[in-house]
Amino acid sequence: MSAHPSVVDDVRAARPLFDKCGRMVRSLRISVTDRCNLRCTYCLPLGTEFRRADELLSWSDVVCVVRVACGLGVDHVRLTGGEPLVRPGLSDLVARLKEETGVREVALTTNGVLLDRHAVSLAKAGLDRLTVSVDSLRPERFRAITCRGSLADVWRGIQRASDAGLRPLKINVVVISGMNDDEIDAWADLTRDHDLVVRFLELMPVGEGAAPGLVQRYVNLTQVRRRLTAELGLVPTEGPRGNGPARYWRVPGARGVVGFITPISDGYCGTCSRFRLTAVGELRPCLGHDLGVPLRDAIQARDEATIAVGFARAAAMKPAGHRFAEGAVTKLRMSRIGG
Ligand code: SAM
Repeated sequence: MSAHPSVVDDVRAARPLFDKCGRMVRSLRISVTDRCNLRCTYCLPLGTEFRRADELLSWSDVVCVVRVACGLGVDHVRLTGGEPLVRPGLSDLVARLKEETGVREVALTTNGVLLDRHAVSLAKAGLDRLTVSVDSLRPERFRAITCRGSLADVWRGIQRASDAGLRPLKINVVVISGMNDDEIDAWADLTRDHDLVVRFLELMPVGEGAAPGLVQRYVNLTQVRRRLTAELGLVPTEGPRGNGPARYWRVPGARGVVGFITPISDGYCGTCSRFRLTAVGELRPCLGHDLGVPLRDAIQARDEATIAVGFARAAAMKPAGHRFAEGAVTKLRMSRIGG
């Protein structure tokens, strides 16, 4: 892709970058690998094939694209995957992003399996925020959902992260009917004595989440929140800093809070400022559509002008919102897009 200079000038002059609906481009989620050490049944089926290591963007590639993105107004980067901690040297990437790009915040989403080993180096590297995905409080069920994970390893990692100062600690729970929807009250109870931010997420028809047997197991979390409000007296609260889509409530007197991420029952596309970069360098403006701008060649050529134009093109193609309620699905797997 070659960039006409006047287009580049237009992009630069357009800082901060807005999409066609007037939403500012502020947040970039980066899938650093599509590999994962778990096989959560709704996300990554057994037998999935992964990209070769030499196909992935290098750390220098990622630093380059984040530097350009920051020049266009992005101030928040989240590293995700796949499982980001299976890729060696993730703390080095965090340190480089903090030192070399001007980004304000670097966050990480992980399944926590390897967190015990990496929490201290991530904190030292300057990681600002951490989210750990944990879909069950029950060890045997956790193993069944993930096909191979140990809940004890994850709790050890969470404790280590908390000791290393990576707080507030957010826990993401994707709620699926017949999988873990009977644990919602137990999670809410956990926040009474623990300073945790437990966020319930609605299952989206993205990748494996769109499989025929799964779509019907979607749980409407706005209804769950209304039930919990009636039964436990939840009160709305500020929640932790961050620019995510969660809305927060507190069980009266609890140390922690519960959050609800409800893309389908109570959508937030109107304020979405997120873009996603796949591990092989495709820029995706919306999780709900299979749309993207290939930037790999420009990134590897360090062609910052073309990367900037790519962001402008992605902003121009960002849809007003997803169409999940009308039956639309996203084909590419969550682990490739960067969940
Ligand atoms: N491995 C990391 C982790 O477990 O957090 C990062 C990648 S994972 C794809 C990110 C998040 O996406 C996890 O919380 C996972 O549960 C969630 N997720 C995967 N498929 C989903 C779907 N179809 N709908 C909603 N959330 C989904």
